[in-house]
Amino acid sequence: MLEEIAEQIRVCTSCVLAQSRTNAVPGEGSAEAQIMFIGEAPGKAEDSQGRPFVGPAGRLLNELLLEAGLRRPDIFITNIVKCRPPQNRDPQPDEVRACRPYLDGQIAALNPQVICLLGRPATQALLDPKAAIGKVHAQGFEREGILYVPVYHPAAALHNDRLRPTLVEDFTRLKHLLGQRLQG
Ligand code: URA
Repeated sequence: MLEEIAEQIRVCTSCVLAQSRTNAVPGEGSAEAQIMFIGEAPGKAEDSQGRPFVGPAGRLLNELLLEAGLRRPDIFITNIVKCRPPQNRDPQPDEVRACRPYLDGQIAALNPQVICLLGRPATQALLDPKAAIGKVHAQGFEREGILYVPVYHPAAALHNDRLRPTLVEDFTRLKHLLGQRLQG
C-alpha cells in the first residue's frame, strides 16, 4: 500500500510544484514503523535524490533520532508536501491541500502509534491551524487513537544555534512519550 502511494506521488501533477521538481519525494522507512515523522517539504538535496531529509536538516535529524534511541530504518518519514517549492519558499495552502490525500493515505496505511510533527507547517496542517510551535512543542496530543507530538524543526537549529538544546530536549521528551505509549 505504501509503495502504491509512492508510485502515485512520483507521477503526480496535482499542483504547480510538479513543474519545477526534479524528483517527487514520497517518503521512506519501515512499513511496520510505530512512529512516523512529518516535515514540511523537500529541499534541494531531497529534490535531487528523491529521498526525505538527506540534506543538512536531515543530518541533524539523524543525530537527534540517535539521542532518542531511534534509527532511520525503524521509522517512517515524509513531508506534508512531496515536491520542492521553488527557492524553498513556504508551501502554499492549495499545494498542501492538493498533497493531503497522499499524506492521509500514508497515515492510514502505516497506522502509527505516534506521529512526530517537525515544525510549524506540519503542526498546523495536522493538529491545529492556529498552533504556535513555541507553545505546543514536546507535548502529546491524542487524536483518533494516534499520539501527535510537535517538536521544533531541525532546520530551526541550523539557523539559530541557541535552539539546539531545545531540540535535544524535544527529542528526549519524544522518546519518553513513545516509550510510555508503547508500554501502555
Ligand atoms: N526539511 C523538510 O521539512 N523536509 C525534508 O525532507 C528536508 C528538509
